[in-house]
Amino acid sequence: MAENVTVPRMPIAPELLEILACPVDHAAVTDETTHLVCSSCGRRYPIRDGIPVMLVDDAEPPAGERPIS
Ligand SMILES: [Zn+2]
Repeated sequence: MAENVTVPRMPIAPELLEILACPVDHAAVTDETTHLVCSSCGRRYPIRDGIPVMLVDDAEPPAGERPIS
Protein backbone atom coordinates (compact mmCIF):
# COMPACT_ATOMS: atom_id res chain seq x y z
CA MET A 1 0.00 0.00 0.00
CA ALA A 2 1.26 3.42 -0.87
CA GLU A 3 1.89 5.64 2.08
CA ASN A 4 2.55 8.84 0.22
CA VAL A 5 -0.57 10.46 1.57
CA THR A 6 -0.10 14.15 1.94
CA VAL A 7 0.00 15.01 5.60
CA PRO A 8 -0.72 18.60 6.51
CA ARG A 9 2.29 19.88 8.30
CA MET A 10 2.12 21.34 11.74
CA PRO A 11 1.93 25.11 11.70
CA ILE A 12 4.98 26.93 12.90
CA ALA A 13 4.55 27.54 16.61
CA PRO A 14 3.56 31.12 17.40
CA GLU A 15 6.40 31.29 19.91
CA LEU A 16 8.83 30.35 17.17
CA LEU A 17 7.31 32.82 14.74
CA GLU A 18 7.83 35.54 17.33
CA ILE A 19 11.51 34.70 17.57
CA LEU A 20 12.09 34.37 13.85
CA ALA A 21 12.80 37.49 11.87
CA CYS A 22 13.93 38.31 8.40
CA PRO A 23 17.74 38.32 8.43
CA VAL A 24 17.77 41.25 6.01
CA ASP A 25 15.66 43.79 7.82
CA HIS A 26 14.74 41.97 11.07
CA ALA A 27 11.05 42.39 10.34
CA ALA A 28 8.45 39.88 11.48
CA VAL A 29 7.64 36.94 9.22
CA THR A 30 4.28 35.40 8.44
CA ASP A 31 3.55 31.68 8.18
CA GLU A 32 2.23 30.99 4.68
CA THR A 33 2.27 27.19 4.83
CA THR A 34 5.15 26.54 2.45
CA HIS A 35 7.12 29.63 3.26
CA LEU A 36 7.66 32.26 5.88
CA VAL A 37 7.12 35.63 4.26
CA CYS A 38 8.79 38.78 5.52
CA SER A 39 6.27 41.48 6.36
CA SER A 40 8.70 44.18 5.27
CA CYS A 41 10.71 43.15 2.23
CA GLY A 42 8.47 40.28 1.14
CA ARG A 43 11.25 37.70 0.81
CA ARG A 44 9.95 34.15 1.07
CA TYR A 45 11.87 31.71 3.24
CA PRO A 46 11.21 28.05 2.52
CA ILE A 47 9.97 25.70 5.25
CA ARG A 48 11.65 22.32 4.84
CA ASP A 49 10.34 19.38 6.84
CA GLY A 50 8.66 21.86 9.14
CA ILE A 51 11.88 23.78 9.72
CA PRO A 52 12.00 27.35 8.49
CA VAL A 53 15.17 28.07 6.55
CA MET A 54 16.00 31.66 7.37
CA LEU A 55 18.81 32.06 4.89
CA VAL A 56 18.94 34.98 2.52
CA ASP A 57 20.63 32.81 -0.10
CA ASP A 58 17.71 30.36 -0.01
CA ALA A 59 14.99 32.97 0.09
CA GLU A 60 12.87 33.74 -2.91
CA PRO A 61 12.76 37.43 -3.72
CA PRO A 62 9.29 38.91 -3.66
CA ALA A 63 7.38 38.95 -6.91
CA GLY A 64 7.47 42.30 -8.57
CA GLU A 65 10.32 43.46 -6.41
CA ARG A 66 11.10 47.03 -7.23
CA PRO A 67 14.67 48.20 -7.35
CA ILE A 68 15.48 50.69 -4.67
CA SER A 69 16.28 53.96 -6.34
ZN1 LIG B 1 12.74 41.19 5.07
